[in-house]
Amino acid sequence: MAGIYIHIPFCRKKCTYCDFHFSTTFASYRTALLSQLRQEFHTRIHEITAPIESIYLGGGTPSLLSPEELGSLLEGPKKYIGNQTVEITLEVNPEDLTETNLSAWQALGINRLSIGVQTMNDELLAWMNRNHRATDTRKGLDLLQPYAFSVSIDLIFGVPKQTEEVVEELLALIDTYPIEHVSAYALTQEPQTLLHHRVKTGKEPQLNDEQQVTHYHLVEQALSTRGFEHYEVSNYAKPGKRAVHNGNYWNGKAYLGLGPGAHSFDGKSRRRWNVSNNAQYLKQQDWYEEETLSADNQWNELWLTGLRTQHGVPMERIGDLGGFRAEEQGMLEALIKQNKIHEQHNRYCLTQDHWLAADGISIQLFRAG
Ligand code: SF4
Repeated sequence: MAGIYIHIPFCRKKCTYCDFHFSTTFASYRTALLSQLRQEFHTRIHEITAPIESIYLGGGTPSLLSPEELGSLLEGPKKYIGNQTVEITLEVNPEDLTETNLSAWQALGINRLSIGVQTMNDELLAWMNRNHRATDTRKGLDLLQPYAFSVSIDLIFGVPKQTEEVVEELLALIDTYPIEHVSAYALTQEPQTLLHHRVKTGKEPQLNDEQQVTHYHLVEQALSTRGFEHYEVSNYAKPGKRAVHNGNYWNGKAYLGLGPGAHSFDGKSRRRWNVSNNAQYLKQQDWYEEETLSADNQWNELWLTGLRTQHGVPMERIGDLGGFRAEEQGMLEALIKQNKIHEQHNRYCLTQDHWLAADGISIQLFRAG
């Protein structure tokens, strides 16, 4: 199985913490870029040979596109998948949840919305430089009620000045609306962001690790008591509602990424990535650069992605990559003794208490490459 990702590199404003690829001044080349995206789809779709089971419109802010523009981007992929029902996700900013958009999105076959709620605190939303306020989220979620979309929300915790209200707000939303999936991320300070600049120049305090760990456990506890499964470090789902598209990334399946900055993977060893610059993407003839992952790099990715999920790392894949070397076997045994990793159904998984340290633990099993 495989997925298609379409990156829309436009946003209305620049959020304080964001390092994704996007532009806020795009009016002059919006139409040309969408046409280039369609062209890229037609040129590259042959790269995917497995059946498509998900389409993901991400960004950026894809919900700022008109329904006609979204329809034109989906036309090619929908012809390609024919009558099959596949997961079609649209990333949405709360201010775009209008009656007109919702009915148009449904008519286009979009069946899953991933809504960038982030927080229900207006002061924090202003601090993040988000374009919406809590009332937009409430209004939008109210309008959503009669529609059959599968609804996921994104939350950010560990924000300076954020109190444990992060959990109160979450509970209030979950108890009121039919939310089936939650992605909850700790705020990170990425280079080249306004947040990074402010911290470096002493205008903001350093992010507080202790606060982030406390919030993480509060969110986890709140969601598990409401029947959500914690299936990836940052992701929780009601039974049967896990994200198919993101699941493919974590399980090493193939995906075709279209648009500036998008990445693709052939499901085996070849990675491709597009230029992260809108002007250059518009001129692009050779769509991507690529690398073939060495066996050691595949090994590292296996641990990095596998340990982040409930399913862990399958022993069979370890065998395919030549099995453990002596020093890796020793490290694994030490991690099992420290109760950080356990064996379950022929897989190595992180114990629940150590999910937040997933990346640091996988690095201990890395090969130098
Ligand atoms: S809306 Fe999303 S992609 Fe755009 S700047 Fe904000 S966080 Fe980044």
